[in-house]
Amino acid sequence: MNWKLKKKYTTLLENEKGYVKKNWGTNNTVCLAYPHYYRAGMANLGFQTVYKIFNDQPSFLCERVFLPAAGDEAEFAAGRAEFFSIESQKPIGEFDILAFSLSFENDYPNILKMLELSGIPLSAACRSDDYPLVVGGGIAATINPEPIASFFDLFILGEAEEALPAFARVFEEARLQGLSRGDMLLKVQKTVPQVYVPCLYEVKYFPDSRMERVRAIVSGLPEKIKIHPPANINAFCTEEVISAPQTEMEDMYLVEVNRGCARSCRFCAASFIYRPVRFRSYEKIVQSVDRGLTVKKKIGLIGTAVSDHPELAGIGEYILAKNGQAGIGSLRVDQINQEIVGLLKAGGIETVALAPEAGSQRLRNLLRKGITEEDVLRAAELLMEKEIPNIRLYFMIGLPTEEEKDIEAIIELAKKIQHHARQHTRGKRIFRSITLSINQFIPKPSTPLQWCELADVGTVGRKIKKIVNAFGCEKQFKVIHDVPKWNYVQALLSLGDRRVGEILLAVHRLCGNWAQALKEVNVNADFYVYRRKQFDEILPWEIVDLGTSKKALISECQKAMEGK
Ligand code: SF4
Repeated sequence: MNWKLKKKYTTLLENEKGYVKKNWGTNNTVCLAYPHYYRAGMANLGFQTVYKIFNDQPSFLCERVFLPAAGDEAEFAAGRAEFFSIESQKPIGEFDILAFSLSFENDYPNILKMLELSGIPLSAACRSDDYPLVVGGGIAATINPEPIASFFDLFILGEAEEALPAFARVFEEARLQGLSRGDMLLKVQKTVPQVYVPCLYEVKYFPDSRMERVRAIVSGLPEKIKIHPPANINAFCTEEVISAPQTEMEDMYLVEVNRGCARSCRFCAASFIYRPVRFRSYEKIVQSVDRGLTVKKKIGLIGTAVSDHPELAGIGEYILAKNGQAGIGSLRVDQINQEIVGLLKAGGIETVALAPEAGSQRLRNLLRKGITEEDVLRAAELLMEKEIPNIRLYFMIGLPTEEEKDIEAIIELAKKIQHHARQHTRGKRIFRSITLSINQFIPKPSTPLQWCELADVGTVGRKIKKIVNAFGCEKQFKVIHDVPKWNYVQALLSLGDRRVGEILLAVHRLCGNWAQALKEVNVNADFYVYRRKQFDEILPWEIVDLGTSKKALISECQKAMEGK
């Protein structure tokens, strides 16, 4: 044991509130892994929720592990310390289950790093009964588990509240029966809803690389993995479990207010994955708020469509009446009104984000965004009236059918907002800053735009430059944007099939050198990223049945392209 590292993680744990440390004894042991740094993982409510669910099972204990900081990683990799969990500082290889919470595709290379540091074979096919069962879950895996299928023994897809306890019961039973790894996986696949064991499904490809078929290799297994979302999200509370300093949301106590979104914007994965839309009741939310205010002053209300909550204003007033502050995760432009802006102001919020997504009405219609330029200007007016000094505007570029004039429309809209706000207040008030956040459109599985190709890196780079240059000398404006080459990687990891796993292995072997890995591996990444898919082809993620029919998605895609 490296004493410096041991001390560092002991102090980290001592600074937290709410962690659980159980005796190992005969418990089933789970190490919950987040494939990124501690400060990011601890800000993830999904990760914290899974920690609570496992620890709520009487015969289970759950501890945590994160991607180690660079210096620590070198210590672990050099073998000067065993890669260990935070709570008991037990080597990861000693747990029964290593469960990864997966929210972002670009974190996938870190899964391989963490498996290697743990001394666990990277490929699921090479693991004997002596190794922990490697389990994956979270929104990224639910959208498309295939690119990482060969590294996982099983996935638990969809929402966790009902699926995880069901899995825990069957896992414990299988363990008590002394089943081998293979038999246990078969039992779990047969009996637990939302479980997907990739090695029990075989994929065949046409010579042109498209998928020919997917079939179960054992009879009696489901053809598709059907997702059953919990109908009543008031049956449990989803809120911060562990309060930890030095994390991305350290000043906020996070409380979930809803799941799903009825707006069905055609690019939005969250809307199509978390169906149907469900709201937590006012009573349940204020109970969470009361617990939160004993720990922190600021309550972060989060969800897919927070501003659609029918009692959002009442919840905000409740928080203020208790001397707290409310932070709202996302606000629909057309839901901004005097009341909501007043609450934000009273809560000390200085920056509000609006998401027009596109500059032109034609592209907003293609996305089915359901807002007009007037909606955006009116929202800006309201913010200005209440003296909220900073505004952040989210736009996407690289959209299907996008032309130069659509990029110009982004620039015009941002300038119009500035001008309009100034005119509205007769020049008395201006926004202190207007930040344009420019993100590339990445087609997401299971959305109506899933068949579209990604715009190429060079074109997107040029469009970003045009927007940056348009605001070059204007101090009030700031443009931030993502890096096109990483969007390419994200699209590949989002839209790929099992063969993309070979690219991930090469990236791991080459210490993160994507350019070299793409050259060395005989898998054509452009095939997944830059190709428009056909409606009649089998797509890698169709093994997961999220409940929206392919026919409905095709119809929405056609309407988008026809400008309806
Ligand atoms: S309003 Fe927001 S959350 Fe709802 S579907 Fe549109 S982008 Fe998604």
